[in-house]
Amino acid sequence: MTTNLFDLGGRAAIVTGGNGGIGRGIALGLAQAGADICIAARDQDKAKAVQAEIEALGRRCIRVPCDVDRPGDIDATLDATRDAFGGLQILVNNAGIAFMGQPERMSDDEWAAVLDTNLTSVFRFCRAAYPLLKEDGGKIINIGSMYSLFGSPVVTSYSASKGGVVQLTKSLAVAWARKNIQVNALLPGWITTDMTNPVKEEMPAMYQGIVDRTPAGRFGEPEECAGAAVFLASRASDFVTGQSVAVCGGYSIS
Ligand code: NDP
Repeated sequence: MTTNLFDLGGRAAIVTGGNGGIGRGIALGLAQAGADICIAARDQDKAKAVQAEIEALGRRCIRVPCDVDRPGDIDATLDATRDAFGGLQILVNNAGIAFMGQPERMSDDEWAAVLDTNLTSVFRFCRAAYPLLKEDGGKIINIGSMYSLFGSPVVTSYSASKGGVVQLTKSLAVAWARKNIQVNALLPGWITTDMTNPVKEEMPAMYQGIVDRTPAGRFGEPEECAGAAVFLASRASDFVTGQSVAVCGGYSIS
């Protein structure tokens, strides 16, 4: 056995939304640590580009068209991963969306869309992956947010969904600890991606307020989420479960 606690050689990971933003940063980090990767996402042009980056690192990579809101796509992603890599040891539930707007004007459809993608799909993916993950012991990393911790006046459904991700993470961690499946959440702070670019580009006062409140004095980059993800995916975290690890430049404690 390798002496490197963080070595992911011989392990297979699914990263939902691994075709861009934080998902891409995490997928590349897991691949650099030795894992083979399945990118599960909708936009295949973006997925193709990340697949090439991962293969350039010498890792195997498949991409499966997957809308996490469709249970059939989840099953197909798991089947393709098992067929390509012989099993699954790491699941990263990263795919997510946000709607901005005052809660008093939010429609049922907007509420349901965010809860379906950000929370229900996470439960469904974990449930469907359980038989594979328990074969060798496994790691689940669910992506939360600073809004797992704080309320927001303008992303109510997002905040509710990300709070739910943390509670779901704790419950699955308790349920599956004896199966040697560790379930943890990674809570990014404000990270530069397609999701937050409108804040940077169109809402300068809000952007500056976030930078000022963040002790590190800046937004993070997607690649900066990779270190915590590698830790939570590796043997180094075998006695860590049900936890939320914030990667936020200090935003959560200021
Ligand atoms: P991006 O908008 O860059 O990425 C979102 C990803 O989610 C895309 O890859 C997209 O894939 C995927 N996705 C969305 N809906 C679906 C769906 N129904 N099925 C499959 N894939 C889907 O945003 P981020 O990288 O910033 O966000 C990634 C995660 O990090 C989200 O869960 C987000 O809530 C969380 N987060 C982000 C923060 C930030 O500051 N950026 C802060 C805290 C948390 P496709 O292109 O195929 O649609």
